[in-house]
Parts: sequence; structure tokens; C-alpha cells
Amino acid sequence: MQNKFHQLMQTEYGISPELCRLCDEIEQQVAPQFAKIQETRDYNQLRVLRAMQQNGLSDRHFNFSTGYGYDDIGRDILDRIYADVFRCEDALVRSQIISGTQALAVCLFGILRPGDTVVAVTGKPYDTLEEVIGIRGESGQGSLKDFGVHYQQVDLLPGGIPDYEGIRKAIGPDTKMAILQRSRGYDYREALSIETIEKVIAAVKEVNPDTVVMCDNCYGEFVCDREPTDVGADLIVGSLIKNPGGGLAQTGGYIAGKKAYVEMCASRLTAPGLGKHVGASLGTSRGMLQGFYLAPHTVAECLQGAVFTAALFERLGFDTSPKADSVRSDIIQAIRFEDSKKLETFCQMIQAAAPVDSFVVPEAWDMPGYEAQVIMAAGAFVQGSSIELSADGPMIPPYIAFMQGGLTYANVKLAALMAASKLLGQ
Ligand SMILES: *Cc1c(COP(=O)(O)O)cnc(C)c1O
Repeated sequence: MQNKFHQLMQTEYGISPELCRLCDEIEQQVAPQFAKIQETRDYNQLRVLRAMQQNGLSDRHFNFSTGYGYDDIGRDILDRIYADVFRCEDALVRSQIISGTQALAVCLFGILRPGDTVVAVTGKPYDTLEEVIGIRGESGQGSLKDFGVHYQQVDLLPGGIPDYEGIRKAIGPDTKMAILQRSRGYDYREALSIETIEKVIAAVKEVNPDTVVMCDNCYGEFVCDREPTDVGADLIVGSLIKNPGGGLAQTGGYIAGKKAYVEMCASRLTAPGLGKHVGASLGTSRGMLQGFYLAPHTVAECLQGAVFTAALFERLGFDTSPKADSVRSDIIQAIRFEDSKKLETFCQMIQAAAPVDSFVVPEAWDMPGYEAQVIMAAGAFVQGSSIELSADGPMIPPYIAFMQGGLTYANVKLAALMAASKLLGQ
């Protein structure tokens, strides 16, 4: 009996019967990983559901506020639900935070004052933060450095392991803030597990319990059954066009953690004295709430797609990170192509498999905020959304594609098989 999904892939997308057989084999191979992903999904789904029920979420919260946005109940309940799910005191979830980079910048500028020191304890932060901190780009643009904030960095050891000794040495009695990054970003390393994040935070707090620890949680939400706030992070930060938006949030970012720090961030985002009390939701609350409700499910779809893709490309002889059977802490799947043409082909096939702009052929370009040329595949309903299937890679050796997202597993599976088919045919 021919599988109908395979039949359609063969007739409509030219996937060979051999690849379809390999697809079946791979799905059997990764069944144990899928079972674990589904277990975490169901657990996180109940936690989100319970938070919505306990906060009395109701139709009236899907309101539309304008102007100052005073007493916007939809906005306020969204903050409460995020705080409850991430098991912390408070949260700031706003459509006025336009990206992950802005959320992180709000957090850094919200906490740090001139003369303070911030230490990056898990190596160089995400590319776009370099200009925020002032370790790249022109001076005079208002970076932390321009404001007299000192920066130190403790690199990861080979293999992506935190340098605990180095961290203890770098943190001092005056260290105001320590920042760590859960996801791999554009590095070929594993994402930090919650257990590792716990140890890093313990190393910081052991030397100085007053150091504010912020974790860049982009791409990490709902991958595990705990978040960095469960293991001592004072603040976590992320983007709503990644995991917690569930594919439905149209824009936004969040900061969650200790109440006093969240308030400092809110003062930075709006103005001192205004803080969390203003910000018209303009009808965005429903999408953000429904997206958060869907997020555990959506993240599981992404993860299954990532595991399938890893297993497929391992069979084809490529190096992957994480491996198909690795324990994951973010939704990113890196594949090492060692060849610019193969990286380009992979990204072009991800684009061709997308529901939106499937006819577009991506090329490498100088993307603002990034140092090297980047090729990006993004055929998303929400511009730049990377909880939707997307892939990108800096055009430098060893030509690694970073693939993430996918609102449905079937679409990711098709995309991976289209890329494999094209690469095998070359
Ligand atoms: C995506 C990402 C960011 C920046 O988010 P943007 O929304 O692209 O500005 C920061 N850190 C990590 C780890 C990310 O994955």
C-alpha cells in the first residue's frame, strides 16, 4: 500500500521512491525522540492551560485599547500568564518590543547604569548584541559603551562547555549583571541545557549573589519542562516571533523575572514613572494569548521537524548539531555543508517548500546587524518569523545552515526531503 503523503511528494515534488523509503526508516529510528518531545509538549500544554484558567482568561481580555492604553486588561493578563508559566514574579510582554534584540537591549539598558560592569559568561553574545554592547560598530550610536558601561566576556571552553573557573574569576563584588545565552545563535555548539544554565548561575551567585543574571532565552521556550527562571535566572528575554508566540503573535517581545527588575525594564521601554501602566495593545492581545496557548504544540512540531532533518542529513553523510538523538534545549538544527553551493541549495529548497513566497529564490545579502553576508530562507505568514520554517547561514566556511521553526511537522519533513533530493541530484 502506497502512503498517500509519499505518493503526493512523488507526483508533486519529484521526491524519489528511495527517499520515501528512507523517510519511513528515519521516522522509525527517531520514534523514541518523538515520544519524549510529545511528553514535554503535553506537560507544557497543561501548564499554559492551567495559567489561563487560574487567571480567569475571558473573551473580554481580547479587547482593543488605543492611545495611552491605560487599564488594558488584555495586556495585563498576558503579563500575568507569562509570569505564572515561567514561574516568576512578573513579566513585560509587549507588541511595542519589536524584536528579540530590542527586548535584550531594553533589559540591558534597564538594569545597567554608567560605570557598571556586565559580564557575558557563556561567550560572545548573539551577533546583533555586539552593537548594543559596543564591541562592534561606530561609537556615538548610544551603545552601552557610549554610556560608560564596561563589558567583559568569559568564553566557552572547547566543546561549548562553560568555563566555571573563568566565570568565578570574572565576577567581582561590583559586577552588576551577568548575561548568558541558552541557544547556539550562529555558533556551532549545543544549546545550554537547563542543568548547565543552573550551574552557570550558581557559579555567578556563589561569588556575588547580587549580580543580576539575565538569560537570553530566544528559541528555548517550551523545549524543556523547565525554563532558566526555574534555576535561578533573575530575568529571561525572548521574541514573540519565535517560540512563545506560537506562530500567531504578529510581533513582540517579552522580559520575565523578578518584579523589581521587570519594572526597571518597563521604565526603560516606556519612561520612568510610566513603566508597565501604558502601551495600547491595538488588538494584539488575542493573537499573543492564543499564540502562547499554541506555543508548546508549535515548538513540538518544530522539534520533530528538526530531529527528522538531523537524522536525514546524518544518513546523507553531513555533520549535524545537535545530532538526531541529542537532548535539545533550543529549536535550532545546524547542518554543516562545507560548501557554499550546498548551503545555498539547502536554503533555496527550504524557501521552495514554504507556504508563502515559495517562488522566491533567496540569495546571500548584507543583513543589518550581522557581520558576514547571510543567506536566508523565510516563507512566513509573519515577516521574519522564525517559529515558522526558516533557514539561514552566514556565507563563510564551514558553510553551516541553521534551520529552525515549522508550524507543522509535515511541512518540515517535506522541506528536508526536497533539500535532500536536490542535493543528491547535484
Ligand atoms: C533571534 C535571537 C536574538 C535576536 O532576536 P531578533 O528578534 O532577531 O532581534 C537574540 N539572541 C538569540 C539567541 C536569538 O536566537
